[in-house]
Amino acid sequence: MTHLFNDPRQFPVEAVAGFAAAHPEHVAMVHGGVVRSTESPQGQVAVVLGGGSGHYPAFAGWVGPGMAHGVTCGNVFSSPAASQVYSVVSASHNGGGVLLGFGNYAGDVLHFGQAAERLRAEGVDVRIVTVTDDIASGPADRPLERRGIAGDLLVFKVAGAAAEAGLDLDAVEAVTRHANDRTRSLGVAFDGCTLPGADAPLFTVPDGAMAIGLGIHGEPGLSEVPLGSADDVADQLVDGVLAEQPDRGVDGYDGRVAVLLNGLGATKYEELFVVYRRVAERLAQAGLTPVAPEVGEHVTSLDMAGVSLTLMFLDEDLERFWTAPVDTPALRRGGALGQRAHREVTEADAGEADGVVEPGSPQSQAAARAVVEALRACAGAAAEHERRLGELDAVAGDGDHGQGMVLGTTGALREAESVAEAGAGLRTLLVRAGAAWSEAAGGTSGALWGAALTAAGGELDDAAAPDEQRVLAAAQAAGDAVQRLGGARPGDKTLVDALVPFLETLTAAHADGRGLRDAWREAADAARAAADGTADLTARLGRAKTHGDHSVGHPDPGAVSFALLMACVV
Ligand code: ADP
Ligand code: MG
Repeated sequence: MTHLFNDPRQFPVEAVAGFAAAHPEHVAMVHGGVVRSTESPQGQVAVVLGGGSGHYPAFAGWVGPGMAHGVTCGNVFSSPAASQVYSVVSASHNGGGVLLGFGNYAGDVLHFGQAAERLRAEGVDVRIVTVTDDIASGPADRPLERRGIAGDLLVFKVAGAAAEAGLDLDAVEAVTRHANDRTRSLGVAFDGCTLPGADAPLFTVPDGAMAIGLGIHGEPGLSEVPLGSADDVADQLVDGVLAEQPDRGVDGYDGRVAVLLNGLGATKYEELFVVYRRVAERLAQAGLTPVAPEVGEHVTSLDMAGVSLTLMFLDEDLERFWTAPVDTPALRRGGALGQRAHREVTEADAGEADGVVEPGSPQSQAAARAVVEALRACAGAAAEHERRLGELDAVAGDGDHGQGMVLGTTGALREAESVAEAGAGLRTLLVRAGAAWSEAAGGTSGALWGAALTAAGGELDDAAAPDEQRVLAAAQAAGDAVQRLGGARPGDKTLVDALVPFLETLTAAHADGRGLRDAWREAADAARAAADGTADLTARLGRAKTHGDHSVGHPDPGAVSFALLMACVV
């Protein structure tokens, strides 16, 4: 139960505000989260982490020298919006590129990914590493599909130390990925957690039972077993994690392990120590050496009762970075980090100054104005078909697709008009319109459309007018962004089923010598036919997947709206 709150909707923001007020020597609050209140060296890779709120000390507690440069704080258990990520990165980066780190969840992949598209289009080198430590959440042969839980602490500690050591972005990214490959967790829950203001927990565990394989967003465990003694629980955790121990003596692993025994929010430290006593015994029996173990609350799930065990199978680099000095509100390890000068953080640092538009060349401005007209046509088409798209979405989804498309296209159009007025070139206009689309629409399709426009902008520029080849490259980049962020493949019954034939036809028709306009019309026809064809498919992704079978006989709303918009822009 969360006892202390004001307006529940304000809970995450008020928590961040209080946190920043308590730790001015480490952090300053900006739109979307917190950043270091101290200077970091020019050229140092910026490590920006995040996810939803409700997990403290993750993630805000990890901002400071030796770990994160900035952290986004979304709503409780939900991904931050792309604009929050953008803002925190803007206030964090030092000219050395940015590593974005977060647990592997679809919403986070979408929103961090969309922010990354925008930052890349603006010339910031951004890499993404998702944490996938939870062995209960997916099979061992597809580890990168698993979700992230308490392993975040170890992986991000390594990332922050590598950045602090002055490694460049390629090297920081590589060692962070390697840390994730070597990190495994298993958790158990004894009771669920309750959102602030809610009167019932998100799930419950029967008395005398424990749930194995809990998530950290109130997802129930994957199986329930009788709750044994503390030692039984310790044994189960150790056995589970050690089942994935890499071979000794290979690739620098020699039995040295970083250890985290993590409390989920309502498990006492003494209980954790009782369990750790047995964990340490078992590790010793297995010939393993714990290095700088942590026992306590590091990645919580509001007031969930539960515990997880994480091991990182070390090599020399990982051990050095795991044990390196760190100075953050929630994690401190001694050693020389040097005094850091205080810096004043203003809203301008957080990208709020982006009302300012650098004018593009006259040619690029003309191309940008053509995009404004295309968006106007899209907004008109979305309004005209709002009802039908909503009805299609109601068959197997939540019925909001028509509304989402109207809000998204209208939001994008307004932003495009306003930046065009200020003289924006093509790249700036598309990047800004994409951000506005996803902000206005919300929902999965809004984030994907926003990322598509932004990625297209990234292929274009504010100086030269684009030739036909550039336009094709921009369309391809948009499609790639949708597939990369959404993870859908043809046949999953999503807008990808219309998008892929659209791009294939566009490229082929253009290669056959058709002009761009004719090739585009042909491609839009192909998209329309493919969208109609999705009626025969069963939905496998997104919200629709739980009702997959209802959707047979009805086309996918996102595919239908995609075809509509592609047809109305030429
Ligand atoms: P939400 O699902 O958040 O309510 P919308 O209703 O606006 O969003 O959009 C639903 C459409 O989004 C689906 O019909 C599908 O075409 C598309 N969609 C959902 N998930 C994905 C995904 N992972 N990749 C591509 N498209 C997706
Ligand atoms: Mg919907």
